[in-house]
Amino acid sequence: MVDDGLIPAHSFWGTTNCNAVNADGDICGVTTTSGLSWKIPGRTGDSPILGAGLYVDNDVGAVGSTGRGEANLYNLSSFLAVEFMRQGMSPLDAGMATLERIRSNTVESRLLNARGLPSFDVRFFLLNKAGETAGVALYGSAETHYAVCTENGAEERPFEGLLEGSPRDA
Ligand code: ASP
Repeated sequence: MVDDGLIPAHSFWGTTNCNAVNADGDICGVTTTSGLSWKIPGRTGDSPILGAGLYVDNDVGAVGSTGRGEANLYNLSSFLAVEFMRQGMSPLDAGMATLERIRSNTVESRLLNARGLPSFDVRFFLLNKAGETAGVALYGSAETHYAVCTENGAEERPFEGLLEGSPRDA
């Protein structure tokens, strides 16, 4: 429908993730459930499935996601990313390792572009107990920044992308 000009590209996706840690180190997170536009009736999406589109562990950190929810349901990605941080990875390294897991588990031809890479995008927003953050995407080209608010106010930080180019590269 976007390709045919029936709906604007900016209204196709609608999910937002927000994570926070307070001065005592207590952590919270939320991922909205509006999800994929024009979804199949009954499709739940990844947002309300703990461990898929959101996972919070008060001892470690919080991770949420936007993008193709099925990839997160299949890989339990947010739980995986929190577990990587529990093992000592930084938010950035944990996010990249999670994206790499999605890339290596994406083997169905209908989900691969002409380069043999995922034909969809997924983004993760990661926060650890120390307040360190990362925003990572399979493809860093589409969305370039994510928002962070610290004691110094609001700022934008750059996304790190795992793959070059675009999911729809021919
Ligand atoms: N993750 C959402 C879903 O699959 C889509 C989105 O991020 O907007 O429903």
